[in-house]
Amino acid sequence: MKDNILGFDVVSSNYESLIHNIFIDINNDEKIFIVNINPFIIMNYCNKPDIIKKLNQEKYQIADGIGIVWASKFNKRLIKERITGIDFMIKMCEQAAKDCKKIFLCGAKPEVVKKAKKNLEIKYKNIKIVGTCSGYVSELEMIKAINKTNADIVFVALGSPKQEMFILNNKENLKYKVIMPVGGSFDVISGNIKRAPNLFIKTNTEWLYRIIKEPKRIIRNFSLIKFVFLIIFNKKKKENNYVN
Ligand code: UDP
Repeated sequence: MKDNILGFDVVSSNYESLIHNIFIDINNDEKIFIVNINPFIIMNYCNKPDIIKKLNQEKYQIADGIGIVWASKFNKRLIKERITGIDFMIKMCEQAAKDCKKIFLCGAKPEVVKKAKKNLEIKYKNIKIVGTCSGYVSELEMIKAINKTNADIVFVALGSPKQEMFILNNKENLKYKVIMPVGGSFDVISGNIKRAPNLFIKTNTEWLYRIIKEPKRIIRNFSLIKFVFLIIFNKKKKENNYVN
């Protein structure tokens, strides 16, 4: 089932059913781009119908951010659970290790992506990470590196919106079964950046922790304020139309 937030589709599934379905798709040789929908993406692309159309055409759009869950609940709709990029990536790695699926890590600084690979290999004994590539080389180099490994699952950590544009612009030229943008996840997995303490994760305020740690992210969080206003405004508009 899908919800729609300001024109953007978002699936209402939880981690378990998503992972289950995605691994069926991998075995069926499908080509899947898992789209992360968060207020930043919505505010970035809400005036670009061609991009919205492309994102909506994908099979899975996940609710990556408490703002999306809030907007859905505010409109009394379907999404109950946030699916964070990093938790989703880790669960995908766990399942890929069990199912012998090949993984490629693309993005972040060279030493970060290498350390992320090493840490995942320590954590999951049977994991098959068939290649890595830093996010500071040309797009062509990234595409070549990914394609020569025939990986099943490609995680792309270039930050948003660069990672989404990289995937959208190169989908046809990239070889993968599943591709997913994962933002700063390699930094966390490598230990380069610490994830927020549990208290922030449990209270859905990881975004606040990241602002405290990296104050320049405040600019990005203006999107969140604009997003909240837009959700409230749209709801009022619908209610008024209904009354009239
Ligand atoms: N990055 C990259 N190439 C670039 C710009 C950024 O590989 O040209 C990497 C950067 O090193 C970091 C990640 O992309 O590992 C961005 O993380 P950030 O936390 O900013 O992403 P977000 O989760 O906020 O989208």
